[in-house]
Amino acid sequence: MTRILITSALPYINGIKHLGNLVGSQLPADLYARYCRNRGHEVMFICATDEHGTPAELAAAKTGEPVADYCARMHEVQAELAKGFRLSFDHYGRSSSERNRRLTQHFAGKLAENGFIEEVTEKQVFSHADNRFLPDRYIEGTCPNCGYERARGDQCENCTKQLDPTDLINPRSAISGSTDLEVRETKHLYLRQSALKDEIDVWIDSQTDWPVLTTSIAKKWLHDGDGLQDRGITRDLFWGVPVRKGDQDWPGMEGKVFYVWFDAPIEYIAATAEWADAKGLSEADWERWWRTDKGADDVRYVQFMGKDNVPFHTLSFPATIMGSREPWKLVDYIKSFNYLNYDGGQFSTSQGRGVFMDDALSLLPADYWRWWLLSHAPENSDSEFTWENFQTSVNKDLADVLGNFVSRITKFCRSKYGEALPAGGETGERAQALIDELESRTRAYEAHMEAMEIRKAATELRAIWVAGNEYLQSAAPWTVHKTDPERAAAMVRLGLNLVRLYAILSEPFIPDASTTMLDAMKVADRAWPGAIAEALTALKPGHAFETPEVLFAKIADEDREDWEKRFAGVRA
Ligand SMILES: [Zn+2]
Repeated sequence: MTRILITSALPYINGIKHLGNLVGSQLPADLYARYCRNRGHEVMFICATDEHGTPAELAAAKTGEPVADYCARMHEVQAELAKGFRLSFDHYGRSSSERNRRLTQHFAGKLAENGFIEEVTEKQVFSHADNRFLPDRYIEGTCPNCGYERARGDQCENCTKQLDPTDLINPRSAISGSTDLEVRETKHLYLRQSALKDEIDVWIDSQTDWPVLTTSIAKKWLHDGDGLQDRGITRDLFWGVPVRKGDQDWPGMEGKVFYVWFDAPIEYIAATAEWADAKGLSEADWERWWRTDKGADDVRYVQFMGKDNVPFHTLSFPATIMGSREPWKLVDYIKSFNYLNYDGGQFSTSQGRGVFMDDALSLLPADYWRWWLLSHAPENSDSEFTWENFQTSVNKDLADVLGNFVSRITKFCRSKYGEALPAGGETGERAQALIDELESRTRAYEAHMEAMEIRKAATELRAIWVAGNEYLQSAAPWTVHKTDPERAAAMVRLGLNLVRLYAILSEPFIPDASTTMLDAMKVADRAWPGAIAEALTALKPGHAFETPEVLFAKIADEDREDWEKRFAGVRA
């Protein structure tokens, strides 16, 4: 048994996530967590909402709620949707928690103590009407390069020129529209990543099993141009973790907060502490996952995220941990994803284009989405959701292959032998060939799951379902039964044991269908299979079962066409 710590990138609080977000971190992390648990490992699976920063403040202003209330409400919404998709987090925390506040301040204090924090005075635009400093992208004006009137302070999206807010002609606040702006001096803290560059470099080099996609992104940031840059870790905002040096005041930093990107990854640790708090456990219970001096040296830590998050997880967060000079657990493996596109374009939260998590669950149960998303996960390149592909995949893989198999074998048994496994008879060579195939496929499936090769695992699982269907088709117990009911009984027994095997193997992908199948087979022992020949005799003659309802309904053409139209455009 190994202890495995799994974190999913934190979804941002300002709205409901779309299916592209889901498959970019939380869903594959759940697949892996479920698999590891089923293999008998001790798992800690952590996620949380990422709640600080300007977008949260602005989203709250839009709904007229105090930002803390807005975040509390949206956290509940996201937590419910996570449950709906059967994401099996051990804890779904909040980056605005007291735990994270204290831990973020603790890390900042340690970094300062060890000389990795620099105080820098810079000039920034202050808006009197908004009573706040404006981040660059919240200042709008006319582009000096192309004349576009809605250029942002960091970049003109019309001509793509990189800008400084002071370059803009007629600058105004993107929040209030006010032109009453003033350039003021303000002090900020910088994390001296440049001083930790060599240490990070050595650490990255020691990660021999990381995918090239991950290490090449990290190496680029480490070495391109002037190398790894220091990074501002504070902001002039109201909503965030107040800047303090551990539990002490930080002179000159009053009224400022840590930048959301500094406190968000620390929430991985804090959320584990929140888990212990929620369960009434001790400090030692969560520290054994995170402190290598308190038991975490034998933990394997795996992170899941979209590729855009890789720099922060390979550089900034490790810099925070290393610079603390405390024995916190560093990540062992990063599984990163490309993007899922939507029907010829991109998912768009602002334009409401694509399917969002709440919409998805209002149309179909979670398993349908889980299966499609995981079997099409954007691992080695971007992938694309189309309704036609989704319909085909659901109807073929889930309804025709798996669902049909379960339905045929249980109904046939019920009609000829009743709802219990029949006794007698021997299976023949065909069954032996099936067992041999399933033996090698199951071991291949395990290897793909362990390597987090999600699409390959899905392909193997589907082949495992297909093999059972083909066996049933060629063995044809319904024909054999007419002349040799004993031999047909042996085939049926094998088929019903396959239902149990499929339920166990499929659980990480389609947990609800798995439960339905196991409940129907009245199975208490859900242990992962060793030798397949043995697993297929687990249910003995006389074992009672219930014929389940239809596992998966097919998607009709009219529904597909209707949904295609509904999700093409602007979401209300
Ligand atoms: Zn321009």
